[in-house]
Amino acid sequence: MDTGRSTKIVATLGPATDQPGVIQGMVAAGLDVARVNFSHGTRDAQRKRVEAVRAAGQAAGRNVGVLADLAGPKVRIESFTGGSVQLAENAPFALDTALDPEGGSATEVGCAYQGLPGDVHPGDTLLLNDGQIVLGVERVSGTRIHCVVRVGGELSNRKGLNRQGGGLSAPALTEKDLEDIRFAAELGIDYLAVSFARDGDDIRRAQSELRKWRGDARVVAKIERHEALDNLAGILAVTDAVMVARGDLGVEMGYAELTGLQKTIIRQSLARNRVVITATQMMESMIQSPVPTRAEVSDVANAVLDGTDAVMLSAETAAGKHPVKAVQAMAEVIRGAEKYQLGAPRMFVREEDEFINTEEAISRAVMYTANHMRVRAIVALTESGLTPLWMSRIRSDIPIYAFTRHQGTRRRVTLYRGVYAVPFDITHTEPRELYHAIFDLLLAEKLVDLNDLVILTKGELSGVVGGTNSMQIVRVTAR
Ligand code: PGA
Ligand code: MN
Repeated sequence: MDTGRSTKIVATLGPATDQPGVIQGMVAAGLDVARVNFSHGTRDAQRKRVEAVRAAGQAAGRNVGVLADLAGPKVRIESFTGGSVQLAENAPFALDTALDPEGGSATEVGCAYQGLPGDVHPGDTLLLNDGQIVLGVERVSGTRIHCVVRVGGELSNRKGLNRQGGGLSAPALTEKDLEDIRFAAELGIDYLAVSFARDGDDIRRAQSELRKWRGDARVVAKIERHEALDNLAGILAVTDAVMVARGDLGVEMGYAELTGLQKTIIRQSLARNRVVITATQMMESMIQSPVPTRAEVSDVANAVLDGTDAVMLSAETAAGKHPVKAVQAMAEVIRGAEKYQLGAPRMFVREEDEFINTEEAISRAVMYTANHMRVRAIVALTESGLTPLWMSRIRSDIPIYAFTRHQGTRRRVTLYRGVYAVPFDITHTEPRELYHAIFDLLLAEKLVDLNDLVILTKGELSGVVGGTNSMQIVRVTAR
């Protein structure tokens, strides 16, 4: 149950992981949360992937969470008659929302987002295919945007379109996203990622849609557009987690600022007690190669040192040649990075702040004590996982075991740094037996030794959500 690392691994499922044995290999390598990407593939294919990863987790005796990632309003060009065209530098090229969707050529292409001509202005820079192709806007007339090619190259069907500096104002939840939320709720997924979220309202809307379909998932706000950075405080006030979505963010903000933005978003998320995932191109070369580059090793390690909860693999696993090796490499780099206590602050001291609730107060007392005493493990008897969430917002290298009878809680805490789920039914445990029942489990897994100190948190009324109100420091003894 302890993986020898505290930072978690999210990896995307796709065609490459549909091959026999691959998901099992990824779970054995330490996959914590599987991501299904609703931008690609059919619902049926996604359902099968979710079922496969749950079965693999069950077989391996590991909890694996599922994150469903909505497609969102990514603005895309339509198609070319020949599938792709070659754009030459300085040549004229037009985007036209009235054009036949299949009728693109070397001089023009369609775009389904009707608001585009209203969102762009002469002098703007448009980026296609994650910035591979650059267009300068010369003039807008009706449905047509006349551009000049600044950086040319091959452009193929349905590539993404961004405006440098942001400002394409499509709302975050499309009709397809709303249907996908219902589908995700039916699948009983653990996290729902909202792509191109603009503000707290986009997140609230996703949360209420989930509730409408009785979904229990927590929401991840993907920070990948300019407006989301402007509204970061409002997003953090309502979201459960955020993703530093470096792919689109790098296109909108310019890649040179990404490192600073990543550190800023991680810091602010932790300061606001939110969970944070760092994503995109972390081990990109492993799509082809069985080993990461030194720069990629450094990138993953730096995200760990920044204090991220999780690092994410996208195409490396979904469409790469070495999906299992990518998870193995990531796990290895995380373990290497965590040996060094650099950068990541152990505790955000917030002396002026008032604690929001009892769980936060208890959690802060626990982590303060654990970090200042030779404590081997922290055990939280929990219903909803709220206390382990609060505990894990304070970085420490002491493992936090979330003992819970709820499968949903066990799957949800897979994303929290330093938290490991343990199936444990408090309602079926004799109160006098409680300590030994816990010690037996920890000793059997070699997570503690006799005489180790353990901190235990629980509620007076066990089995009640939001009931944690006590902390005990106990020494592991034999029966
Ligand atoms: P995507 O999001 O992979 O769905 O585009 C992540 C990112 O933009 O970095
Ligand atoms: Mn994106």
